[in-house]
Amino acid sequence: MATTGAREQLPLQLTVQQHNRFTTLPILDERLRGTKFVELTHRSVLNSPEQTGVDFWSLNPYVGCEFGCTYCYARYAHRYAVERAHDAGKLSDTEFRDFRGEQGWEAFERRIFVKERVLDALETDLRRYFRANRGGDERTPIVIGTATDPYQPAERRFRITRKVLERLSRCDGLNVGIITKSPLVARDVDVLRTLQQRNDLEVHVSLISVDAALIKRVEARSPTPAVRLRALEKLATAGVRAGVIVAPVLPGISDDVPRLEALFCAARDAGAKFVHAGPLRLYPAVRDRFLPMLAERFPDLVSRYRRAYDGRSGAPRAYARALAVRVRRLQARFGFPVNDGMVDRYRPRRAPAQGSLDL
Ligand code: SF4
Repeated sequence: MATTGAREQLPLQLTVQQHNRFTTLPILDERLRGTKFVELTHRSVLNSPEQTGVDFWSLNPYVGCEFGCTYCYARYAHRYAVERAHDAGKLSDTEFRDFRGEQGWEAFERRIFVKERVLDALETDLRRYFRANRGGDERTPIVIGTATDPYQPAERRFRITRKVLERLSRCDGLNVGIITKSPLVARDVDVLRTLQQRNDLEVHVSLISVDAALIKRVEARSPTPAVRLRALEKLATAGVRAGVIVAPVLPGISDDVPRLEALFCAARDAGAKFVHAGPLRLYPAVRDRFLPMLAERFPDLVSRYRRAYDGRSGAPRAYARALAVRVRRLQARFGFPVNDGMVDRYRPRRAPAQGSLDL
């Protein structure tokens, strides 16, 4: 058990109380397949650019994600939350093992932290945000869902993302982005429209391919492409500015022209206003999950990936450049803004071929 003093030192607070057995973490819900949802109380929920090193503010209502994509880079954040809880005496050694999982990565999908009391923290954070943006011509964007999906299944019950959007919709002049793979985003079309009346809004529906069989191989429990595209269509029909984010493009798996063409075409038909794309980044926390999947389902690619990502997280520069060219061509061809998005920094030197791009 933590002492009061230990709890006061932590920006991350884990409150005490549980209905059916003693534990330091309140379990809010449990699923039949064993997923647990645990309350997590933060003093702060809006991360500034100085805290994260990116050029926008970010907010993630959940830590962990049931969708369980094999390429997900957010597993490190879950591990960090669990380690801090253990260090603070909020998790026993047994609970710590349970919350990390046997292999160190799977608990990310099965022990989901819910920032249930988000509004108190957000109120304070918004004052901080407005102070930091005082005097500028444009406000720094606030992006929801940079690390975990804000419309993952937990949101159906806990409605944290909706509460955040309702609060933001009472502001003026914000620039808000949302990234999600879930059709649940269409549930909030009313609040999204209200938010958009006095603020800039972009909803990024995350989809790497329209091939449902492929999606199933690399994203354990994510919604099917058809369901995501229907949600995109609902948003577009309601006048919400929405598009597709293709992240990550998986080298040798989802980067060939026919697959990308099908995706861009489906995005256009669903009313997308933009499509952005960027290549896989193989951070250390991603390797533990992604490489075993690759060995099992795409064994021919293993040595190419090992060579290409040897000693680095980012895709090789030549690959990223070639992908940028391919994406720009497709953006132009399907009538989207030719906006380099995440591949902006790489300038094209030659036109890529039609098949999978060389790693
Ligand atoms: S939906 Fe996003 S946050 Fe969830 S597992 Fe997939 S990549 Fe990670």
